[in-house]
Amino acid sequence: MCGIIGVSGVPDASRVAYLGLYSLQHRGQESAGIVAVDPAGDARLHRGMGLVSDVFAEDVLAGLAGDVAIGHTRYSTTGSSVLANAQPILANYRDGPLALAHNGNLTNADPLRADLVAKGSIFQTTSDSEVLIHLIARSEAREPEDQLLDALERVEGAYSLVVTVGRTLYAIVDSRGFRPLWLGRLGNGGHVLASETCALDLMGATPVREIGPGEFLRIQDGEVDRLPSLPAKPARRCIFELVYFSRPDSTIFGRSVDRVRRALGRELAREHPASGADCVFSVPDSSNAMALGFAEEAGLKLEHALIRNHYVGRTFINPTQAARNAKVKIKFNPVREVLAGKNVVVVDDSLVRGTTSRELVQMIRQAGAVEVHFRLASAPITGPCYYGIDTPTRSELIASSHSVEEIRRHLGVDTLGYLSLAGMRRAAGGDPAEFCDACFSGDYPTAIPGDVRGGARQLVPLQPALPV
Ligand code: AMP
Repeated sequence: MCGIIGVSGVPDASRVAYLGLYSLQHRGQESAGIVAVDPAGDARLHRGMGLVSDVFAEDVLAGLAGDVAIGHTRYSTTGSSVLANAQPILANYRDGPLALAHNGNLTNADPLRADLVAKGSIFQTTSDSEVLIHLIARSEAREPEDQLLDALERVEGAYSLVVTVGRTLYAIVDSRGFRPLWLGRLGNGGHVLASETCALDLMGATPVREIGPGEFLRIQDGEVDRLPSLPAKPARRCIFELVYFSRPDSTIFGRSVDRVRRALGRELAREHPASGADCVFSVPDSSNAMALGFAEEAGLKLEHALIRNHYVGRTFINPTQAARNAKVKIKFNPVREVLAGKNVVVVDDSLVRGTTSRELVQMIRQAGAVEVHFRLASAPITGPCYYGIDTPTRSELIASSHSVEEIRRHLGVDTLGYLSLAGMRRAAGGDPAEFCDACFSGDYPTAIPGDVRGGARQLVPLQPALPV
């Protein structure tokens, strides 16, 4: 998954982009990058591995002069986690520098790449996004905009894109609109693009509107023009953006993420009440709003029973053998005074492999909780995402091969309740057909490239369950 930013019409565009990337850090922590284009049309790129604050320093931003910029934070879903795959991608193109930053995942990138390689293309990266660059470069259309459209007609899957050709900035969202993208305006006449509205806030931009499925915008000399749309297809917004991925202070797909998450918590409390429990708490931070909704609906006291260490970096050097298997302990610590002797409800947003949650439950019991009732504010995840969310292979998804009762025993909890897909749709509101919920329902809106990441459905041996 990734976060993308575009800026046009402000003197220090790279600094504005930097602020935007800071707000989109949650969408990708592997690498970050900015391309800035100056008034003479020269483009400069800086990318690096790590967090936005690690990659950019004052002198780096000073070297990225220009009034047009795009930026990217990356969490790899295709292609390995190496600097070569960091974005934006910058290429020399017949109409000047071409830069591109992509959020999403192309489902037909492999056959397209094989075809391009057979025709002589030399790839610099293993990411799916570079396929787009080659398709644009090889297009026989005359105008850059037609070349872009030519390339996009050949790719399938999820893409929200910010692209610069020379000094022109483009914003493109695929026809199904899997990933969010917003247009905002700056006070001095400049324009910005951002995956989420939380980034518009930090960049000091006023939200103008969300870019709809299939839209193609051009931003040049302070003007925003709508170009011909991509071929119309039914919208399939990613429901997991609302469940887990986006920040609760953002509005995406016409909905406040916070409001939807509270509604998910309320639906969960209706479907799986835990009468007799003493309190409810979240696994911070992703399920905070859901626990709030659950507590309101169930009339239970909301507690803070798990404290999260916010300074856990991507790599942790284990100082002792004892810490080696303690990944969860590094991130969370229980408040014993809240848990001792209590019957508790734990609300989490989703269950993926079940490994983190299992360790958390052990921690909660060791801190003195008597009964542990685990509640999940989304349905069982039974299939991988091919559209940009980093989910593991099908065989690693615990719910792809185990019943709720088996998972309950694996987690070592007294009761386990998953919100139904119908409950998720009620909480999201609007037309359920508008969403992609393939990871929950198996209803994939595009052809999928075989189960490339998952292989055949396999049974994963579960570790022995804790006594309950
Ligand atoms: P586990 O117990 O190993 O299944 O992990 C569950 C936790 O992973 C939940 O707290 C989720 O908030 C979190 N989670 C869900 N989806 C993702 C994802 N794509 N990447 C990282 N963490 C995730």
